[in-house]
Amino acid sequence: MTGNSNIILITVDSLRYDTIFSDEAVSAPTIEQLIEEGLTFKRAYANGTSTGMSFPSIFSGMYPWDYYGSYYSPDRPHLIEEFKNTNYGTAAFHSNPHLSASFGYDRGFDIFSEGSDSPSTVSKLRKKAGNNIPKDSILYDVLRKAWKNLEKATGTGVGTPYVDGTELNEYVFDWLESASAPVFGWVHYMDVHHPYLPHKNTVSHDIGEKEAIRLRQKFIHSPDDLVNSEIEILRQLYRGEVEYFDRCLNSLLSKVQSELGFDNTVLILVSDHGEAFGENDNYGHGGDALGDEVTRVPLIIRGPNIEPSKVESPVSCVDIYPTITDIRGESAPSKCRGKSLLAVDENERQEKDEKQYVFAHANAPSDGQAMICDGRRKLIHDRGENTDTLYDLCDGQEKERINYRADHVKDLVDEIETHISSIKSSDDSAIQPDIDDEMKNKLRDLGYID
Ligand SMILES: [Zn+2]
Repeated sequence: MTGNSNIILITVDSLRYDTIFSDEAVSAPTIEQLIEEGLTFKRAYANGTSTGMSFPSIFSGMYPWDYYGSYYSPDRPHLIEEFKNTNYGTAAFHSNPHLSASFGYDRGFDIFSEGSDSPSTVSKLRKKAGNNIPKDSILYDVLRKAWKNLEKATGTGVGTPYVDGTELNEYVFDWLESASAPVFGWVHYMDVHHPYLPHKNTVSHDIGEKEAIRLRQKFIHSPDDLVNSEIEILRQLYRGEVEYFDRCLNSLLSKVQSELGFDNTVLILVSDHGEAFGENDNYGHGGDALGDEVTRVPLIIRGPNIEPSKVESPVSCVDIYPTITDIRGESAPSKCRGKSLLAVDENERQEKDEKQYVFAHANAPSDGQAMICDGRRKLIHDRGENTDTLYDLCDGQEKERINYRADHVKDLVDEIETHISSIKSSDDSAIQPDIDDEMKNKLRDLGYID
């Protein structure tokens, strides 16, 4: 790496690993090409089961329970601060309320675009404020306040609460057209996240919008009442969203190529968690379920001097921060818990039979669930119940193992105990952001809170 590479971090909300890596993979030619040309981690895990739990790991290189997970605590290392005092321009584009400035995600970004509820004057105003006006000008402040108030007044539209990938791309394209290298850009797509809407020219094209909305309500509010045929339609809608996202990704990559070129640009594609459709009696994501359908994610890195390869060793999202510092020829802060993914030597690990463990957390540290996985076995420790559940992972299937001998999994038990004792803070009430009524309403509309 040159130390001055452009870095584009592309995150996809709720993208399951097996929609990409399995016999039943969705038709996603852009992602397929990235897999062929990139360093692909076939067994990558998110460290949390929801956006709020997972993203602190991506942006801080620490686990969700470190400083408690549902908020991007200022005590965590901060990826964007790595770009302070450098010549990098930094920009973020997303529309997930869990990643909003209210939760601290805007820290350090030159441009932080949180999307809009409709492609209205609000977003146009914001784009102008963000891109064309010096940030220290009074006009910038006035415009910022204006679009914040306007946004407040517009509320959240039921059915399409997020910015669609095509519209999100427009914001990114505007930025790319005026950006000067090197840049760090973060683009977070919500299309694959529910509500799943039918899209033309995808597997979901003949499902009616009304039906999609009806099933969305059931999926969120009474999933246990879903019958198999409805689950199949939801899966089909979900797969259609993945196909649609793949097209948005294609447009983004074309624009990155034309504006920045690929000779000095690193792309990182990852998801923050998967999505359940009844596996382990779970629907959606979040909560206490740590099954592969929710924790396993696609993770691909493509760039100059990065040898295309497919890695089977387990890795996780805490490794993304040290990877980005490694790309820049820097070291990650000592607080970071992950390792650079560019340093993974699959052959060496196999020769040494070296064990690699990954961890994930669900719910609060005091009585939540911690997962350890070595790629073949997964142990889930419930801190509230003080129980362990063991799963074998083989042929893409997760199977609970009953009556196992504790001494056969001693390494997992020892490692997870060491991991839990290393958690930086277990105080559940330690840090909670102030969520105002507007944010509460938004989260309620999206089905996050009752
Ligand atoms: Zn998410």
